[in-house]
Amino acid sequence: MTALLEARGLSKFFPARDGKGLVRAVNDVSLSLAPGETLGIVGESGCGKSTLARMLMRLIEPSEGKVLLEGEDLLSLAKGAMRQRRRDIQIVFQDPYASLDPRMSIAQIIAEPLDIHGIGTKAERAAKVKDLIDLVGLDPSAASRYPHEFSGGQRQRIGIARAIALEPKLVVLDEPVSALDVSIQSQILNLLDDLKSRLRLSYIFISHDLSVVQHVSDRVAVMYLGRIVEEGPAEAVLGAPRHPYTQALMSAIPEIDPTRRKSHQLLPGDPPNPENIPSGCPFHPRCPIAQDICRTEPPAFRTAGASRARCHFAGET
Ligand code: SF4
Ligand code: MG
Repeated sequence: MTALLEARGLSKFFPARDGKGLVRAVNDVSLSLAPGETLGIVGESGCGKSTLARMLMRLIEPSEGKVLLEGEDLLSLAKGAMRQRRRDIQIVFQDPYASLDPRMSIAQIIAEPLDIHGIGTKAERAAKVKDLIDLVGLDPSAASRYPHEFSGGQRQRIGIARAIALEPKLVVLDEPVSALDVSIQSQILNLLDDLKSRLRLSYIFISHDLSVVQHVSDRVAVMYLGRIVEEGPAEAVLGAPRHPYTQALMSAIPEIDPTRRKSHQLLPGDPPNPENIPSGCPFHPRCPIAQDICRTEPPAFRTAGASRARCHFAGET
């Protein structure tokens, strides 16, 4: 079966602020998403997950690598063809306050992608907007109102309605519930789950919050300093993590119950800084089991059970 989306050796390098060298925001990331799957991408802020998400949609041009959507190389597409293809991949952003234009009514906001792509007649678009408002669980009266009249959770419903307006195959969710109260988070996660099966969507779900990722993902990729350090089926990666970083993230979650989770993970040592990536294994300054080899030799992926992890000792712990 052809993957819905595949990334091969994807990297993004920015010039460093001091003018010397490059910041490797995303470094040699390969991943694959099957139709109907939810791939969770988890990591602390600054690990490159948002940059990765934007490269997958070509909102940011990669420095290296390929992105294949149903086998088609997105980076080789000219502007017009890419614009057409973008209908198939939509994004929901973290901040439901910043991502909706305050001067547009909810109906205008949701209709905008349909207008841009010139889909349907005016009446058909209006009918579609009505359906979408209903589909995301908002009151029909929402159509004529404005973003400031809605709560964070409702605004995220509006953002989701806009994202699914073009009937995409894939929705990239970049921290979709991180700005919301925990009680509202579950409602939005349930809505996403419901829409996924009703509309046969696939998701890339990005979050710093492992318990949210655990709740929604079929497969999980853990990122640290621009690289995937562990990847595999959710139950393998989260149930029996092989990488010491994943193990540390998991042990910081006190409860499986998503309504009772902590909002921040606790890890010893400095948070990762992509401007200053340690030698060898980039995790070594924070790793409780680091050995001499870890300071000099970057680990390659090792297969460990159903998952793979970038650690010299992945099969052994
Ligand atoms: Fe820790 Fe070494 Fe494995 Fe890196 S390679 S995670 S430092 S044990
Ligand atoms: Mg981010």
